Amino acid sequence: GELVHQKKHGALYDILLTIAPVRDQNGEIVNYVATQRDITYRKELDRLKDIFVADVSHELRTPTTNIGLYLELLESAPAEKKSEYIQVLKEQSQLLRRLVEDILDLSRLAIGKTRKIDFEAVDLSLLIEQAVTAHTPAAQQAGLELRVELAEHINVRGDGHYLSRAIQNLIGNAIQYTPQGTVKVKDWQNSEWACLEIQDTGIGIPEEDLPHIFERFYRGREIRQSKIHGTGLGLAIVKEIVELHNGRIEVESKVGVGSVFRLYLPSWRD
Ligand code: ADP
Repeated sequence: GELVHQKKHGALYDILLTIAPVRDQNGEIVNYVATQRDITYRKELDRLKDIFVADVSHELRTPTTNIGLYLELLESAPAEKKSEYIQVLKEQSQLLRRLVEDILDLSRLAIGKTRKIDFEAVDLSLLIEQAVTAHTPAAQQAGLELRVELAEHINVRGDGHYLSRAIQNLIGNAIQYTPQGTVKVKDWQNSEWACLEIQDTGIGIPEEDLPHIFERFYRGREIRQSKIHGTGLGLAIVKEIVELHNGRIEVESKVGVGSVFRLYLPSWRD
C-alpha cells in the first residue's frame, strides 16, 4: 500500500492506496484495481499514542535520574548529609512508583473504553465514606478539618474500583493543596444525577491553569516549582473514569480562597 495525503475541504486526510494487478488466464496483466481507505482516524490515534509514550518517558526520566544521582552522592556523603539524601531518595522512588501506577491505571482505562465493562450497582456514599476514612490520618497530620455530609445510600451504576479511585484522587488533592482550614465532602442525588462535591479552603487554581488541569501530566505552574511532588495524572485519571461512566466533572476555584470539584454520575434507581 501507499500512503497519500489528500486535501479535502481544506483538511488533510491520510488515504491508504492499494493497487493490485488483475491478470487473465495466461498471467498477463489486463487491468489494475485500486482501493482507497481513509485511515485519518487511525493515524491520529497513532500520533496521540506516540506523544503519550514520549511524555511518559520524559516524566520517568526525572525521578530515575535523581535516584541515580543521589545514590552516588550518598556513597561518599559525610554522615550529617546522609539523612537528607535518603529523604530525597525516598521521595523520588515514591514518585516513580506513583507514576508507574498512574500510567498503568490510564492504560487500563483506555482498554476499558474499547471493551464493554460490566457495571454493577455501587453504593456511592459507602465508597466516599471509605475514601474519607483512608484520608483521615493525612488530614489530621496536616491539621485540617475533614467534614463529611453524606446522603443515605446513593446508588449508581458503575465500576466500584474506578469510582473509588476517582474519589480518592479528588480528596487527596483537596488535602494536598490546602495548607489550612477545611475539606468538606458532600453527596446528593436527584432523578437525573448523583453528585459528589469536594470543597476545600486551599490555595485555589489560577485562571491560566484551570483549562489544563485535566490534561495528562499537567501540573500547576507554581506547583511545579514547589515542594509538593505529583504526577500530574490524578485529574486525567478522574476525567477518564467519569467519561467511562457517562458522567461529568466541574470545578470552581479562586486563588487564595479554595476550590470545589463536583463529580456527576447518572442516577440509578430500581
Ligand atoms: P498533581 O496533583 O499530581 O499535580 P493532578 O492531575 O491531580 O496532578 O492535578 C493537576 C493540577 O491541578 C495540580 O498540579 C494543581 O495545580 C491543580 N489542582 C488539583 N486539585 C487542586 C486543589 N484541590 N486545589 C488547588 N489546586 C489543585
